[in-house]
Amino acid sequence: MRILIVEDEAKLADALSRGLTAKGYAVDIIDDGEKALTRVSIHHDDYDAVILDLMLPSLDGLAVCRSLRERDIVTPVLVLTARAETETKVELLLSGADDYLVKPFSFEELLARIQSLLRRPHASVPLVLKSGSIELNPVEHTVRLAGQPVELTLKEFNLLEYFLRRPNEVVNREDLLAHLWDFNYESFSNVIDVHVKNLRRKLGAGDRADALETVRGIGYRLRA
Ligand code: CA
Repeated sequence: MRILIVEDEAKLADALSRGLTAKGYAVDIIDDGEKALTRVSIHHDDYDAVILDLMLPSLDGLAVCRSLRERDIVTPVLVLTARAETETKVELLLSGADDYLVKPFSFEELLARIQSLLRRPHASVPLVLKSGSIELNPVEHTVRLAGQPVELTLKEFNLLEYFLRRPNEVVNREDLLAHLWDFNYESFSNVIDVHVKNLRRKLGAGDRADALETVRGIGYRLRA
């Protein structure tokens, strides 16, 4: 899952980024409204959610959100606001924001709101993702293989979740990079292949030993 933080208070943006990264999200930060609008307009498929501050240089959060919705971009948006007036809340929801948080807020609350936003598009997906003897629980952040717990790194967990949400689909490396790594990542390295190899090794027991196929020249496919 990849999240864009649009926030011009560097300290807050860094703190949120660190917290979300520790929870396994890929995070990018932009500190300006116009730049954020441009980036999301072009790369909205890369982001699973946007955390959008209201008071921003060049273009405020309301205008950013309204412009995104006018362009039929439906990426979930959580607005951060320092104001608490009712009028603003109504304005926010009319602008197409999915939710808002009034500053100051706790990281736990932000995380809960983000997890709730990310769940909405997958409302019909069962709580536990399964493929053969593999079971992944996105809320508890646990993986079991034939009922036995498997220890995965955050990246391995995110990769597996991504594959499990797309059974039998060919997933190309660019999509994996876009969704699971932030833009500081060097895309020419073979980091994905290394993580997939490790994931295979950890899942390489029982009926799912060869479930994660390499699709030559493109990427990978998880056979359901
Ligand atoms: Ca601000």
